[in-house]
Amino acid sequence: MSYDVVFQNARIVDGTGSPWYRGDVAVTDGRVAAVGWVHDNADTVIDLKANVIAPGFIDIHTHSDFTLPANRTAHSKVRQGVTLEIVGNCGTSAAP
Ligand SMILES: [Zn+2]
Repeated sequence: MSYDVVFQNARIVDGTGSPWYRGDVAVTDGRVAAVGWVHDNADTVIDLKANVIAPGFIDIHTHSDFTLPANRTAHSKVRQGVTLEIVGNCGTSAAP
């Protein structure tokens, strides 16, 4: 097995509510392919030096439906790890 990227020596927070644990995360074609201790080859290996790796965060109250049309890349969210947003919680929305 060969992966595109392996993030080694991470503190893995898997989003299940379990405590973090040490290991590697392998990615192929933009998707997580393995979690644990990965010993297979990879095109790129990144040593996280015990930094945390986690799934994307869900921002459960945003108003990005008003700002995304003007700022389509949403770097301010993506760079914080936000990968999903819920809009319209206040009863208003840019959508009809
Ligand atoms: Zn609101």
